Amino acid sequence: MSSTSNKRIALSEPSLVGNVRSYLEECVATNFVSSVGPFVERFERAFADFVGSRYAVACATGTAAIHVALRLLDVTPEDEIFVPTLTFIASANPIAYERAQPVFVDSERQTFNLNPVSVVAEIERRASAGERMPRAVEVVHLLGHPANIEPIVDVCARHGIPVIEDAAEALGATYTEGRFAGKQVGSIGLLGCFSFNGNKILTCGGGGMITTDDEKLARRAKHLTTQARLPGAEYRHDEVGYNYRMTNVAAAIGLAQLECMPDFLARKRAIAARYDAALANHPVLMPAVHASWAHPSFWLYSVMARTGGKATRDRILANLAEVGIEARPIWSPLHTMPMYEKAARLSDGSVAESLAASSFSLPCSVGLSDEDQERVIAVLKKELT
Ligand SMILES: *Cc1c(COP(=O)(O)O)cnc(C)c1O
Repeated sequence: MSSTSNKRIALSEPSLVGNVRSYLEECVATNFVSSVGPFVERFERAFADFVGSRYAVACATGTAAIHVALRLLDVTPEDEIFVPTLTFIASANPIAYERAQPVFVDSERQTFNLNPVSVVAEIERRASAGERMPRAVEVVHLLGHPANIEPIVDVCARHGIPVIEDAAEALGATYTEGRFAGKQVGSIGLLGCFSFNGNKILTCGGGGMITTDDEKLARRAKHLTTQARLPGAEYRHDEVGYNYRMTNVAAAIGLAQLECMPDFLARKRAIAARYDAALANHPVLMPAVHASWAHPSFWLYSVMARTGGKATRDRILANLAEVGIEARPIWSPLHTMPMYEKAARLSDGSVAESLAASSFSLPCSVGLSDEDQERVIAVLKKELT
């Protein structure tokens, strides 16, 4: 075996191609490195156009974007926010920052996303019982797969509940059927939130974006991310804001990455198709379902063990790690974390628990070579014998 055959294969690493270097050189040449600088606005404009929203407001992180989205709704400690239990912790932490109450929604087994049936049932139940409604439903599009958002949008519209989309993992994913056919995730709810963390499909080192069609919300989002400072030289501020700005340097990288998104998406989808073909009828592993009504972005490509749950999953992870292949469990359900174990849940969360125990994600960086992917597949095929 040659020494290169154990070269490390990362789960998801950035691909800093295209104009990244020249835009960064422009930042240096013009001395615009802070959050004052032309790339921030250029990135916001181009991002809004890409996603199909009227406005986009750049933030320091995706977590900050979600926090600001909640502040835009003036969430109070009495308010409940419906949010899936199976997601990255950053979907829920901003709810806790505002001392509001998360109400955890279990997953649907097929796509790992939140179960719309239980959201609709609970909202209708509360409506008939005259009970207090959630202040918002936070729909998270996990792993690049759009959540089944239409029934949630419909029930929320009937009862005047805003929908926030946590689209941090799914930039570029679209709906292909139904009322939202042709729409991208993050352009459907009142507010969309994105992350440009290092492992996301589009990275600018660290960053986030809020999208909306509502001009007032967009203005206030900008205001909150810039310390709620009023125009004028005298440092007047009209509410408690944040320093959640994106720097010009980060925006320069982000804009260059955005220009590459069509290529990145094509690459992710090609990697996914290759895994799909290799794992079809695999006796042990089953890819997460790609719904017929969705065109996922495949930020990560995730599979679950059909049998043996966590033991099988951990054995395969160990086999991969042994030859330098980075694969990772998905998240632990949030209702199992100490700070959220007493939070309300719509159901016991057992689907999320079983998905979390048996699932993991395979390498799918946009720069993953066919040879490297074959190495990953070869390890998975060992399970066939
Ligand atoms: C990455 C991520 C975030 C947070 O983004 P950061 O930029 O890391 O703050 C939020 N929600 C989900 C689902 C994520 O995967």
